Amino acid sequence: MSQVMDPIYLTKGIRSMFYMVTPNESSFEHVEDVPLYVQQATPFFIGLMAVELVVSLLKDDAPVADFGDFVTSLSAGIISRMPALFARSIEVTGYIYVWNNFHLLELPWDSAWTWWLAFLGVDFGYYWVHRFAHELNIIWAAHQVHHSSEYYNLSTALRQSATQQFSSWVFYLPMALAVPPSVFAVHIQFNLLYQFWIHTELIRDMGPLEWVLNTPSHHRVHHGRNEYCIDKNYGGALIIWDRLFGTFALESHKVVYGLVNPINTFEIIYVQFHYYKYLWKSFNRYTTIFNKLGVLWKGPSWKPGKPRLGDHSEVPEVLPQLTVLMMTGYILYSLTSFGFIIDQRPTASMWELLRCIMMVMLLRYGYMTVPGPLAGLIEASVSLSLLYWGLQIVSQLVSVEKKTA
Ligand SMILES: [Zn+2]
Ligand SMILES: [Zn+2]
Repeated sequence: MSQVMDPIYLTKGIRSMFYMVTPNESSFEHVEDVPLYVQQATPFFIGLMAVELVVSLLKDDAPVADFGDFVTSLSAGIISRMPALFARSIEVTGYIYVWNNFHLLELPWDSAWTWWLAFLGVDFGYYWVHRFAHELNIIWAAHQVHHSSEYYNLSTALRQSATQQFSSWVFYLPMALAVPPSVFAVHIQFNLLYQFWIHTELIRDMGPLEWVLNTPSHHRVHHGRNEYCIDKNYGGALIIWDRLFGTFALESHKVVYGLVNPINTFEIIYVQFHYYKYLWKSFNRYTTIFNKLGVLWKGPSWKPGKPRLGDHSEVPEVLPQLTVLMMTGYILYSLTSFGFIIDQRPTASMWELLRCIMMVMLLRYGYMTVPGPLAGLIEASVSLSLLYWGLQIVSQLVSVEKKTA
């Protein structure tokens, strides 16, 4: 803890979170000497998340957060670092192997030129890792974890996949033909660290920096499930690759976060692995080998007869305001109805009957999803209530008729 309070350690730690380090202080001859920057950043992750929380509490138009979502993101962060407990990251291990056996030239590890080249090289590699992670279903199965939150705050950055590095390491191998592993091992960490701070709604616009850097605004678009956001802004530290390769989109309408088909659960193992099960099912469902391979190697929205990345106009429309309005309306309606029951008003049974019908509609048309075993129970109780209030109304009508007769 005392180390954290040391001003030099503190400023260096904070600078590390924004890639604001000099080649001089972050060049090493041997890969074993490279600090574990990501591990060391833990107090800064926590510190910045606390700052974000305080600032958003002080602001009127505070972005929303959710405790369950926060815990799920943190758990995913911890799970994703677990493979690193057993071995050096697969990315660095694979890189060292290629360097040892195949490197063509040896750029000097202590030159600023090598440092800057590696900065660009890792960021360029990351762009393609990330783009393939969205365009190939088999890699998307890993990466979807990062997109499964419906909130957007610093904790979302920690929601990482445990399995993504099993595919990402391949993309950096061309660099191993010339750039020493010790330089690569520095940049692969700073590139990841840089992406922490851009997961916030508190910073709206960075002015001219928006042209070059990946910023909170650009990355919000990347996390959106609005149609204009799908498959856009893959950049890591720089946004120039997206501008260059035609995958750039500017933040325009309010972004709605999360997966196109939300998973509606905080169960951490499910969040990490559910998509593999889905892939396996789809793989078995198709009969031709072409379609089976399509499930793995085409985009998540692909279906037989559709283009490689699927048809984005089929993305379910996002109507968050309307949904919120409907839910609020439903709650107000329910409370009013309960009041009528307590008051023993004759109209109460009609109100309750309508409430049951609304409930049935919400369940039927998928506006309300209930976890498996509960679904049957809820449908049964709603049906019984429907019957009960229906009979109440009939008996009321009968007694009215008797009185008037
Ligand atoms: Zn992504
Ligand atoms: Zn992200």
